[in-house]
Amino acid sequence: MENIRNFCIIAHIDHGKSTLADRLLEFTNTVTKREMQAQVLDNMDLERERGITIKSHAIQMNYVYKGKTYVLNLIDTPGHVDFSYEVSRSIAACEGVLLLVDASQGIQAQTISNLYLALEHDLEIIPVLNKIDLPGAMPEEVKDQMVDLVGCSRESIIPASGKDGTGVDKVLEAIVERIPAPKGDKTAPLQALIFDSVYNSFRGIEVIFRVLNGTIKKGDKVKFVATDTVYHADEIGILKLEKEPRTVIEAGDVGYLISGIKSAKEVKVGDTITSFDNPTKEAIVGFEDVKPMVFAGVYPVETSDYEDLREAIEKLQLNDASLVWEPETSAALGFGFRCGFLGMLHMEIIQERLEREFDQTVITTVPSVSFHAFDNKGEMHVVNAPSEMLDPSKLDRIEEPFIKAQIITKSEYIGAIMTLCMEKRGVLRNQVYLTTDRVEMIFEMPLSEMVFDFFDKLKTISKGYASLDYELIGYRESNMVKLDILLNGDKVDALSAIVHRDKAYEWGKKLCEKLKELLPRQQFEIAIQAAIGAKIISRETVKALRKDVLAKCYGGDISRKRKLLEKQKKGKKRMRQVGNVEIPQEAFMAVLKID
Ligand code: GDP
Ligand code: MG
Repeated sequence: MENIRNFCIIAHIDHGKSTLADRLLEFTNTVTKREMQAQVLDNMDLERERGITIKSHAIQMNYVYKGKTYVLNLIDTPGHVDFSYEVSRSIAACEGVLLLVDASQGIQAQTISNLYLALEHDLEIIPVLNKIDLPGAMPEEVKDQMVDLVGCSRESIIPASGKDGTGVDKVLEAIVERIPAPKGDKTAPLQALIFDSVYNSFRGIEVIFRVLNGTIKKGDKVKFVATDTVYHADEIGILKLEKEPRTVIEAGDVGYLISGIKSAKEVKVGDTITSFDNPTKEAIVGFEDVKPMVFAGVYPVETSDYEDLREAIEKLQLNDASLVWEPETSAALGFGFRCGFLGMLHMEIIQERLEREFDQTVITTVPSVSFHAFDNKGEMHVVNAPSEMLDPSKLDRIEEPFIKAQIITKSEYIGAIMTLCMEKRGVLRNQVYLTTDRVEMIFEMPLSEMVFDFFDKLKTISKGYASLDYELIGYRESNMVKLDILLNGDKVDALSAIVHRDKAYEWGKKLCEKLKELLPRQQFEIAIQAAIGAKIISRETVKALRKDVLAKCYGGDISRKRKLLEKQKKGKKRMRQVGNVEIPQEAFMAVLKID
């Protein structure tokens, strides 16, 4: 155990975690030249395409230092604010972290929030000043910031570049020298923390764990404490680029377990694995349940795919413990699920993963935060979907979640950010200069105004020079109303939204206009109306289609005609028929595209 080091890499998004991980893997010959590709641990297609880490990835390296071989378990983590839950789980399996700061960017919002996570868990922090090869690097200035924030000495900061490999040797030495070896008792009853799991359609669920105490052997009878289930450890092993089976995994180490577990319900991230014959008396303190920030309906495009979709969501949840869901029915869309997400990026990623990894085609509805509606008897109702909102005759008041947003930016963007935040009903609570031209602004604002497109807007107005982190601070009363959309007189529940009264008229109008653009013309006229209660506040009309779409192909060649038909067929995939009107996926999200 003295020769094991468990660590993860934390940083603000894009500060170079995955790239530095590549260099560490190369330097230790964990990955051969042939296997090497940029951000090799980002093995999900989606991660590669978007250039971001979504999941934490664990990998083991061997490193020889002063004649001794060390086992280094590295966990690469995502940086985006939506995925901080992944970070907190990785941190729980480690004794130390590499805290990376981009030398040209300096400390950013998630540098701070991730650092706090590490400090909460008492981890050893190795500060790394990354990307020093960049012409725009400001090593001295950023070192000052790091000393201030981390409270470390200037000398302890390692200058490095994941691009050209500078400092990689120093980073590895520091991992061995500064991060404590895991503590634990190999002979004690087994106590292993499940910190991740992956669904594998051939072999069942792979459980990723960190052994705190005891030893797990191939073939052992083990028990998962929280789910109270018993398995045989059919295969155990360590994680290299591929899984490598082993016969024993001891206290201090990280490994995987496969025992033909088929049902997602049986594995809970944060649970303790123990020995069936010699169980531990104490379960490890697991993780706090995640609190989703945004809720949306997820429906199969074909109603008959409901059961398949349920299975897919269950399996995906295994790999993403932050996804929560429950069945929901919509008058317009039929049977589906109300899912809770950590943010909009998370929601997008889940939708894409359902499609790619599980072959589902889904419709997602207007996202909503979780409101508290109080009826006139004083009872509180949790409202995660507009359709759950109380009838106005029974409604006393509505409270909505508020957040504290921390924005770090250059001073020249203060004005634009103030304007944006005020539009979003935000109130400035504090403003501090971190250096002469870097400012930290603290706002309080409704989560509902923030989750949807705030981050994109913030990036645009600050030309990328603003970073954001936020936390929930509680519920406050707000004057919210439910805005309904009617198509040819029928209310479409999946298009309803809960909005602030001051913005309701404008929203209703813009939403109708947007829907007019998005609804395909059909053989008949479609009336689009926005209403608050029984009161119609806006109306638009989609004119009936006159000519056959194929008409313009007459005389044209047949392949062009076929192409057009195929295009139409494809375009249909993400449509739902509601009454006699066809609604494309974009329409359900129209409310997000309104400025
Ligand atoms: P992550 O989000 O923290 O995992 O960051 P990535 O490792 O994905 O890197 C983000 C971007 O920065 C990529 O385009 C990398 O090629 C680039 N990058 C990473 N490390 C360095 C470095 O040391 N120097 C330079 N110049 N670019 C880097
Ligand atoms: Mg990454």
